[in-house]
Amino acid sequence: MIFEGALLDLDGPRRGYLRIDRGRILEAGAIGTDSRRGRERRIRGIAVPRPVNAHTHLGDAAYPREPPPGPVSRIVAPPHGIKFRVLAETPAAAKRDAIRGAMVRMEREGTGAVIDFREEGLAGVELLRSAARGRSLTVFALGRPLRRPIDRTEVRALLRLADGIAVSSAREESYATRSELARACRAAGKRYALHASEVVREPVEEYLRPRPDLLVHLFRANEADLRAVAEAKVPVAVCPRSNALFGHAPDLARFDRLGIPLLLGTDNAMFASSSILRELEFAYVSARLRRRPVAPRLLVRAAFHTPWGWLGRPDRARLVPGAPAPLIFRLPDEDPEYQIVTRAAEHLMVLPERHRGTR
Ligand SMILES: [Zn+2]
Repeated sequence: MIFEGALLDLDGPRRGYLRIDRGRILEAGAIGTDSRRGRERRIRGIAVPRPVNAHTHLGDAAYPREPPPGPVSRIVAPPHGIKFRVLAETPAAAKRDAIRGAMVRMEREGTGAVIDFREEGLAGVELLRSAARGRSLTVFALGRPLRRPIDRTEVRALLRLADGIAVSSAREESYATRSELARACRAAGKRYALHASEVVREPVEEYLRPRPDLLVHLFRANEADLRAVAEAKVPVAVCPRSNALFGHAPDLARFDRLGIPLLLGTDNAMFASSSILRELEFAYVSARLRRRPVAPRLLVRAAFHTPWGWLGRPDRARLVPGAPAPLIFRLPDEDPEYQIVTRAAEHLMVLPERHRGTR
């Protein structure tokens, strides 16, 4: 298959062609210079790398109902929030099925990877890994040990299976706990992450100490806090739909102005679908609604480019020969970043691995 149109990858927007076969890019270059000379099926539109959903709690997919009213803290706070009651009361097999269902839907939408905060200790990460078996989605699992004070045997076992550790917040864990977990992650070559300034504004020196590899939310952080985060070069995952459900919104343009690398996530699967395309559209439109517009280019980076770098796979954000096939959307290739952010949808998508050889 030959794709012709706009390419939106880590190397910047441009027009060009890609020759794609068996899920790989074989050739790339200027339109009209491909080796097939009209002997292969052509598709026009916009090509992007696979998006990454950079913040989920897929275990919550077991709760399919409208979230009750009230502050988010009452719903997701460990250990008595509704979320933790649902996790505790749902049988493991039902949770695994719910997680797998969410993964299947993400794959259908073309998502390439997900970064999940998985509660419930070692068993929680085991459940996530077993739900992901046989799936093409890359699942980056950040687990959470259960015992306090820290039990080193539990942490070691967790880090053998997980890609790192994510705690709920600096407010809910002592400095001693956080620093021991962060140290264990470093020693194992893995990642340490946490939510910050979500329920209340937290002192920036607390969540930056020890330095995390990823922060989530920060919509209650003030300008000085965000400057400190930018200086510490810590990327931030934002989840506008989840925040909006509880009456809040991250100021994405401000994050960008201060130079904070942004990633985009869909947060708790009990609040919203894990669709990164819907998150993109909402992020853009809600920023306009608040008269704090955000450039489509920033959102494209947050969904398709920056997270692959964070995952240590910048190659997966490039559309070059040898790279995996991109996602193609049958959309006009004019102003492609705006098109992708506001109009990309599953029914406009071509998954090139479904098209093999010459047609
Ligand atoms: Zn979260």
